[in-house]
Amino acid sequence: MTALLERVLDRAAGQGVPVGAIGVGVPGTVDPATGVIVESHHTAELTGHHLGRALGARFALPTFVDNDVNALALSEWMFGLGRGARSLVVLAAGTGIGAGIVLDGRLVRGSAGYAGEFGHASVRFEGRRCWCGGHGCLVVYASGRGIAEAAGGRAAPLVFQAAAAGEVAADRVVSEACDALGAMIGTIVNGLNPELVVVTGGVAAAYAACEARVLRAAGRHALSLALARTRIAIVPGDKHGSVRGPAALALYEAEVPSP
Ligand SMILES: [Zn+2]
Repeated sequence: MTALLERVLDRAAGQGVPVGAIGVGVPGTVDPATGVIVESHHTAELTGHHLGRALGARFALPTFVDNDVNALALSEWMFGLGRGARSLVVLAAGTGIGAGIVLDGRLVRGSAGYAGEFGHASVRFEGRRCWCGGHGCLVVYASGRGIAEAAGGRAAPLVFQAAAAGEVAADRVVSEACDALGAMIGTIVNGLNPELVVVTGGVAAAYAACEARVLRAAGRHALSLALARTRIAIVPGDKHGSVRGPAALALYEAEVPSP
């Protein structure tokens, strides 16, 4: 990260672009009170680190570190589909499922930084065991890893392709995934009633191809008048969005006016 930042700062200086702050999105939970990364399942070596303080001292710039999907939600809000909205939820479905929540113009982090962990909300109380230790979590049915495990190790996009080609076993897995994701969208609509829910991430392209199924499931679980005021968009994730996230985080935190 230090080497990458050095290269980017060099290039910015070469182009005469002033850099006002550094933003970092991490795949884990950041304690909003202390800035310490308290848990990171996919990059365990980050756990316990105060990355913001270390990078801030190294580069002498204000440095902001947050959960990557929180940063992505800020990006959608400031530069993407959520521009002009006061509230939105971004559900990022990749290996796992994370969410970022903006309500009434503020990022919601929760008391310990765990706000938005809808991926580990149960959609089946007696369901399969999850890697978090819980049972029937949304990720078990609807994340890339969960879908692959349910389909005997095949990657999630291939499972969706097989289902579209008429393979019954794959279709059962996809159907369950769409139902689980739709149910969670219904819970979000009922519980937070945001103006916009964006489903994105590595598995979103596959979900976009069965959008009608997901929306039908959402309709079965959401209160109809609440759902009527929430727009649901399923958009494939892209690398640019992931990079804009931490930039949005830095702008949000530093209250630098957006360009
Ligand atoms: Zn779980």
